Amino acid sequence: MRTCAALVVLSALPVAANPMNDALDALVAAYPDHLASHDDKDLIWKDGTRMPIADGRADKTFQQRLDQPDIKDQFAFRYPLGTDVKPPGLNEDPGRIRFEPFFLKMYGDCCKGEVAKRLKPVAWLQKRGGGRLSVTTVNRVDERLAAVVKELDTLSPDMTRFLVPSAGTYNCRTIRNTARLSVHAFAAAIDINDKQADYWESLKGRTGAFTWRNRVPGAIGEIFERHGFIWGAKWFHVDSMHFEYRPELVALAKQGWPERRARLVPLI
Ligand SMILES: [Zn+2]
Repeated sequence: MRTCAALVVLSALPVAANPMNDALDALVAAYPDHLASHDDKDLIWKDGTRMPIADGRADKTFQQRLDQPDIKDQFAFRYPLGTDVKPPGLNEDPGRIRFEPFFLKMYGDCCKGEVAKRLKPVAWLQKRGGGRLSVTTVNRVDERLAAVVKELDTLSPDMTRFLVPSAGTYNCRTIRNTARLSVHAFAAAIDINDKQADYWESLKGRTGAFTWRNRVPGAIGEIFERHGFIWGAKWFHVDSMHFEYRPELVALAKQGWPERRARLVPLI
């Protein structure tokens, strides 16, 4: 016979955490100008728009998650914070899966001139010859980048060659060899000096295989991360000059999310 004591113990067990709920909480908190809340099915925007969280397709391959993602897929991988940049596991690209309608609604459609009218110039390491760069004012990305610059300015002179000249910010374009819009099309990304950078497609050998490589110091990445930007050096499909504003992924990483697992959704 079960005792009442045993029942009490059972009922006191913590309710299993729902990692997707935590991820969506972080998403709403990261974009307070745009997002109001979420429930189990939808992300709810401040203007009342409801955007489905999941498309119901549980068996998507990695490539399908890139090409036909849903909001949930954006959280497929844990973003690894910090200066210690290690080769990621196969296809581990935290932040590289993006549900395009989410970004179009937030930052605007560059093809319709909606991004260009929200740009603001930011001084880019001017004492080191960096000039000025234009980024979006949406989500105060301009202010976040200015805060990054202030910290980068304190780095030793031998870091300048990784940063200056910048390879660009706003560019109304798709990602190379894809039909997917780049975060540069939303003016929420910056490329540092491409001469010291590695890009996975450029690392490909004759067989099409490539070995991950990064030469950009982790100290630079950590400064960007402190202000809500993620770094392409932390992707298996490395793009080590690339930074983009994704504060939800940084916030989740600070929380140690998701516990124990690097992957949230199964990958095929
Ligand atoms: Zn880039």
